[in-house]
Amino acid sequence: MSAPAQIALHVAAPAKPPVGAPCNGCGVCCALAPCPLSRSLLGHCTGTCPALTWQDRACRYACGLAVAPAKHLRWLPDSLEPLAQRLARRWIAAGSGCDCDAEVE
Ligand code: SF4
Ligand code: SF4
Repeated sequence: MSAPAQIALHVAAPAKPPVGAPCNGCGVCCALAPCPLSRSLLGHCTGTCPALTWQDRACRYACGLAVAPAKHLRWLPDSLEPLAQRLARRWIAAGSGCDCDAEVE
C-alpha cells in the first residue's frame, strides 16, 4: 500500500464533496495529480497542477487553463484565448459532477 499523498490547499477552500456531487472547486483533484490536459499542454506529470488557481472572490479553486489560458500557455495568441477557454472547459468537463474518489483527512 502506498503512503497517503499530502497536498496543501487554501485554508478557505471548501471541503471535498462526495463523488457525483456538483464540483465545488475544492481543488483536491488538481492538487493530487495533473489531468490529461495539464500533462499534454503543460507537460506536468506529478503533483499539484501549476494551473490550479485560487479565486479569492469566489472562495474556490478554478482551472487556470479554463479561466486564463494565456497565462499558462505563453504561445497562445490573445485572439485565441476565448476559444481556448471554451475548449479547456469542455476538455475538463467543467460544471459536471466530482469524479475524484480521493479520501481527504
Ligand atoms: S472535481 Fe471534485 S475534487 Fe476536483 S475540484 Fe471539483 S469537487 Fe473538488
Ligand atoms: S489543467 Fe486544470 S483541470 Fe487539469 S489538473 Fe490543471 S487545474 Fe486541474
